[in-house]
Amino acid sequence: MFGALAKTYYADKINIKAENMVVVSIMPCTAKKFECNRSEMRDSGFKDVDFVLTTRELAMMIKQAGIEFDKLEDESYDSILGESTGAAVIFGTTGGVMEAALRTAYEIITGNEVPFTNLNIKPVRGMDGVKEASIKIKNTKPEWSFLEGVELNVAVAHGLSNAKQLMEAISSGKTNYHFVEVMGCPGGCIGGGGQPIPTSAEIRKRRAEAIYAEDMGKTIRKSHENPEVAEVYKEYLTHPLGHKSHELLHTHYKVRKRY
Ligand code: SF4
Repeated sequence: MFGALAKTYYADKINIKAENMVVVSIMPCTAKKFECNRSEMRDSGFKDVDFVLTTRELAMMIKQAGIEFDKLEDESYDSILGESTGAAVIFGTTGGVMEAALRTAYEIITGNEVPFTNLNIKPVRGMDGVKEASIKIKNTKPEWSFLEGVELNVAVAHGLSNAKQLMEAISSGKTNYHFVEVMGCPGGCIGGGGQPIPTSAEIRKRRAEAIYAEDMGKTIRKSHENPEVAEVYKEYLTHPLGHKSHELLHTHYKVRKRY
């Protein structure tokens, strides 16, 4: 997604031809090395992401270069798209994508913050294999009045066996979820195959706690309040779910043969 924006919006902004750009993503995920080569990942008209390094590889490179990371002075990320939010930070743990989406969706539909203390949607947090939550939508804006009183049902799974369990429940027709989040790794990306080793249930729990602490410390904790995201929509994508954002930010995968 970012690669597609980098080679379109950002390339225009900094006046560089997309074909002369090299985009490197730092990821928690070994699977992204494969994914960036998929034919579906060329929404910019070029390979959206040229290379993927895992967080573990980046850490090794930093050590090999003799950089004492903890002694570096903090500084801001480069603009544009350098502003981060608490919602972005929690993407790394199971339930985080769901929580970030609910914070934004509820507020867009009602004009009010999601009705959980400090925006912390605790029912979708934690390391249970499959989590469920229901949120009643109340006091909608006029244009969303058809959602008034709807009980929004969501589910979250992490790890492949839990994902299978959730998918089988959905296939059976006995569930009534409106939105599900599935992360392949135990604990979500904090337990990703490219993350520093070793990992364990305790380490993943502590990584999740660190992520939620970081979220609480952020001035901006909702994606739609990120001024740089708003600027991208205003200047380039026009509006969420518009044609351009659909083309660049959404992916449809083709079925591949099994090995
Ligand atoms: S959950 Fe695992 S497989 Fe999915 S993106 Fe994160 S690290 Fe990759």
